[in-house]
Amino acid sequence: MDRSLLMIPGPIEVEPEVLAALAAKPESHVSPAFIERFGRCLERLREVFRAPEGQPFVVAGSGTLAMELAAVNLIEPGDAVLVVNSGYFSDRYVRLLERCGAQVTQVRAPVGHAPALDEVAAALDRQPFKLLVATHVDTSTGVRVPAQELARLARERDVLSLFDGVCATAGERFEQGAWGADVYLTASQKAVGVPPGLALVMVGPRALAVRQARRAPLPSLYCDWLEWLPIMQAYEARRPAYFATPPVNLIAALAVSLEKLLGEGMEAVWARHARMAGAFRAAWQALGLRLVPESAEVAANTLSAIYYPDGVDGSLVGRIRDEGVIVAGGLHPEIRERYFRVGHMGAVRPNDVLATVGAVERALHAAGHKHAAGAGVAAAQGALVGGDE
Ligand SMILES: *Cc1c(COP(=O)(O)O)cnc(C)c1O
Repeated sequence: MDRSLLMIPGPIEVEPEVLAALAAKPESHVSPAFIERFGRCLERLREVFRAPEGQPFVVAGSGTLAMELAAVNLIEPGDAVLVVNSGYFSDRYVRLLERCGAQVTQVRAPVGHAPALDEVAAALDRQPFKLLVATHVDTSTGVRVPAQELARLARERDVLSLFDGVCATAGERFEQGAWGADVYLTASQKAVGVPPGLALVMVGPRALAVRQARRAPLPSLYCDWLEWLPIMQAYEARRPAYFATPPVNLIAALAVSLEKLLGEGMEAVWARHARMAGAFRAAWQALGLRLVPESAEVAANTLSAIYYPDGVDGSLVGRIRDEGVIVAGGLHPEIRERYFRVGHMGAVRPNDVLATVGAVERALHAAGHKHAAGAGVAAAQGALVGGDE
């Protein structure tokens, strides 16, 4: 058994109980036990997303399918969309929206910054838009955008808002109902804490009404919310239904993970992510490392994106792996060769923080970066012992 620690921004370490559900014998998708499991899952998702009026869709696929499920239902050719672009996954959304025929306008920020709210407001006032799209946490930069304020700006102008939460949901505070965000989506392998394979999309009533009123034909069967809607409604009403076979083991694993999240409580889960991120940031600072996010305000709690110090290159990632911790290289095209990423979402505990920082320290040392041995571990431990910072 490989005992290395998987600290990338998805897939992540998952709880043993979640793995056990995956190893079970597949059950019929119309068995009473599975119907109960899936129905409860859908109810629990509403609680995790804080979307009491939302319609959850759980569909086999990756996060990119979740993005596509949202775009193809909402966009008709010619629709104007404002993309608040904070990096690699916002760029992906632009490509996807353009394939749906959208007229895309973008508000961008330099790498490491979140687009400014006044620029977003000005763009929204310049012309009418159907939809605002933002990436809650961009996985290529570790930048978190102010989702609550963006949702408010959209709502004030009667524009729909959609947030890609694939690197945020269940790790960063998001209150879909209270904030008036119309669509929030994620995938199972990020902070939700399940292996890859499930696209999770929560659709608010305004967005669902837009799909129902759609005139242009929808050129996808698998992605059509209206094909899935009766299925999701049936499972929640504890009735059997079939459109396309649900991945029963993944849904059983999701059921376990959602119960664990809600057992801990979303406030506590979000606070734990903030605490782990704070300990990591204290360590990076003590080691003299610079983060890609340019301010603490925009630095995500779900991952750290860290520039290599002078004289250190991408071979650091391999050295950290040799020390027993798997981290990720760069992803944003402008800075890809200059930084690495450490995921810290899901089941991450203080022990994982210390093990990871220790491995990074040893790898830096081997790469010739000078620092007092243990400086990063001491700073992380200080933050963990001392409280939230
Ligand atoms: C991982 C990720 C995606 C893509 O998810 P896949 O499962 O790789 O398709 C989309 N958006 C964000 C913000 C992500 O972190």
